[in-house]
Amino acid sequence: MKNNIKVIGAREHNLKNISVSIPKDSLVVITGPSGSGKSSLALDILFVEGKRRYMESLSSYARQFLGIAKKPDFDRIEGLCPAIAIEQKTVGHNPRSTVGTITEVYDYLRVLFARIGVPHCFLCNEKIKVYSSSQISQYVVMVYAHKNVTIAAPIAHQKKGEFKNELADFLAKGFYRFIIDGKLHKISHVGEIEKLDLKKTYKHTIDVLLDSITIDQDDDCLARIQESVQKSFDFTDGLCKITVDDQTTLYSSKRMCLTCQVGFPELEPRFFSFNSPIGACSACDGLGVEYGKEEDMYAMYMGHELKLCRQCQGKRLNKQALSVTVGGKNIFEIGEMSIDDTLDFLRNLKLDNFDSEIALGILKETCQRLEFLVNVGLAYLSLNRTARTLSGGEGQRIRLAKQVGCALSGVLYILDEPSIGLHQRDNDRLIQTLKTLK
Ligand SMILES: [Zn+2]
Ligand SMILES: [Zn+2]
Repeated sequence: MKNNIKVIGAREHNLKNISVSIPKDSLVVITGPSGSGKSSLALDILFVEGKRRYMESLSSYARQFLGIAKKPDFDRIEGLCPAIAIEQKTVGHNPRSTVGTITEVYDYLRVLFARIGVPHCFLCNEKIKVYSSSQISQYVVMVYAHKNVTIAAPIAHQKKGEFKNELADFLAKGFYRFIIDGKLHKISHVGEIEKLDLKKTYKHTIDVLLDSITIDQDDDCLARIQESVQKSFDFTDGLCKITVDDQTTLYSSKRMCLTCQVGFPELEPRFFSFNSPIGACSACDGLGVEYGKEEDMYAMYMGHELKLCRQCQGKRLNKQALSVTVGGKNIFEIGEMSIDDTLDFLRNLKLDNFDSEIALGILKETCQRLEFLVNVGLAYLSLNRTARTLSGGEGQRIRLAKQVGCALSGVLYILDEPSIGLHQRDNDRLIQTLKTLK
C-alpha cells in the first residue's frame, strides 16, 4: 500500500525483528507497557531515519554543518516522509529567549507597533505628533480668520556660534527679517550682519521671518501659508514657528517633542527588539538583569536569579521604545498579560480607519498564532515569560503550536506524550490541534 509507512525487521533496542505498517495522513497513537519499545520505534527509528534521509538529499555543503546520525538498525523502511520530532525538551537556555520570541508572536507585535504605535515623549510623556505643511495651513486658515499670522523658520535654538554664513545665505535668498534672541532685526546688506556681533561662545536663538499675512479664508491664502510652512521645514530640518497674537506655536514635520526638544526615531520593528542595539536597554543590553560584574556572572553560572536591571527594571527595552503604545499599552505591558488576555486585548482594539486599514493583516496573523497557543493549553503563559523557566511539556506544546502555524504538509510529526502536564479540560483542544496538523 502506497499510503503506509512500512518498517521491516526493526532491531533497535528491544524491538526484536518486528515489522509494522503505519497509515499516512492519520493520527496514529503508539501504546504499550513501559519498556515495550514505543519510543524506540517512534523516535529512534522513524524520526532518526526520516530526518537522516531528508538530510542526505541536501547539498554536501549544507550537510557538513548538520552532522548526520548513523542509520538505525532495521532491514527496510518504505514510504517514509521527512520527519519532525516535537519532543518534551526545554526550549533552550538562551537568557534572551521568551515565549514571545520562540513562538514568533513577539515579532508580529513588533511589526504592529512599528505600523500603528503612538510615540510619547519619554521625558514629559506628551503624545508626539507629526504635522504636514498642508495640515498646518488648513488649521491656520480655519482657526485664525482675519488675524495676522507670522511664519518663521527657527534656524537656531540656544545654539553657540556667530551665524555669519547662515545669515548671509538667507539674505542672498531674499530674506531680510530675523528674530535674533527675541529681537526683530531688518538687515538690508551683508555688512550689517558683522555689526550684529553675535558672540561665538554665547547661545543664540534665531528665527528667519518668512511671511506675515492677514488670514483670508480663500485658496490663495491657504497656498501661500502652505508654501511658507514647507520652506520653513526645508530650511530647518522639519520645524516651523507660527505666531498669532503673541502666541507662538512650534510645529514639526518630524517625530519630536516640541516642549523638550527631543527627537524620536522612525518606528521600525527592530526598535522594539531587546536583541537589537536600537531597542535594547543600554544598561543591560536587553537582558533585563544586572550582569557583567564577577558576582553576577557567578550567579548566572549557578542558575540563580539575577537582580533586575536598575535602568529598565527588567523591561529590557529603552525608554523610547517603551514610550510607544498601542491601545494605551506599551509592548512590555502587552507581554506581561496572559496569552488569553492578550488575545482579548488585540481583538478589542479600537482603531481609527487609517490604522485599522494598515494593521488589519498583521493583527489577524498575531491573533491566529495566539489562538494556536491557547489551543495547545498554554493560554495562561505570558509572552514575556523566559523560555528557560518552561517545563518540558510546555516546551513541546509551544513547538506544536509553531508547527501548526507553519502549515507544512507531507511531514511525519512525532510527538512524545503531548498531553503530559496538561489540564484535563485542555485535552480536547489539544486533540483538535493534532487533527488540524493532520
Ligand atoms: Zn517632552
Ligand atoms: Zn536594562
